[in-house]
Amino acid sequence: MTESPVSQPDLDLDQVIACHGCDLLLENLEPEPGARLCCPRCGEIVKTRKIDSINRTLAFTFSGLMLYPFAMFEPIMTLDTMGLRNQGNIFSCMTNTWHSGYGFVAIIVGLTSVFFPLAKLLLLFLVALQLKQGRSTPTLARLMRIYVHLDEWGMLEVFMIGLLVTIIKIHHLAHIHYDVGFFCFIGLLVMALGSSLMLDKEEFWKRIEHGKT
Ligand SMILES: [Zn+2]
Repeated sequence: MTESPVSQPDLDLDQVIACHGCDLLLENLEPEPGARLCCPRCGEIVKTRKIDSINRTLAFTFSGLMLYPFAMFEPIMTLDTMGLRNQGNIFSCMTNTWHSGYGFVAIIVGLTSVFFPLAKLLLLFLVALQLKQGRSTPTLARLMRIYVHLDEWGMLEVFMIGLLVTIIKIHHLAHIHYDVGFFCFIGLLVMALGSSLMLDKEEFWKRIEHGKT
């Protein structure tokens, strides 16, 4: 008795998508803008289609970039203790930490709260702007890849939590005046989070790959 080889149907990889939760292969359907594709086996969200992702990402990143210099270099707050006034901004927080002998902490704060948030906003703005104009070059794919790698390293929200803890701890000891930098920093935080939420990575990658708008 001879065994005939089992013929494998041709599988077009663009037509299937694997569930991140249970690895079930699903038909790669394109959900309507604002809708989600969920796994029928484990309920994991497999794909989410964001509404007007490029324009919204562009708007949030542009607003974030406008707020960035004020959030970094304008004073965040003034502490008033028995006639002594002390004022500081985020950039001076980093340099003061460095001069106090905590070089490693200053570098981590500088990277996660100053450099990476700027790099993320700038990269995403450039990619969204190019896609909006209908351009797609190999450089664009490289910029998007760098953004994806940096995505986990911008930690403005962690700095904000640190700031709130400091305010709660010292508000009994000193009178706190909130300055322009504080409100710009909150604005920057909202814009940075908004740009991440509005970004539809799959749509961005698809447009970069096919060079279409
Ligand atoms: Zn699943």
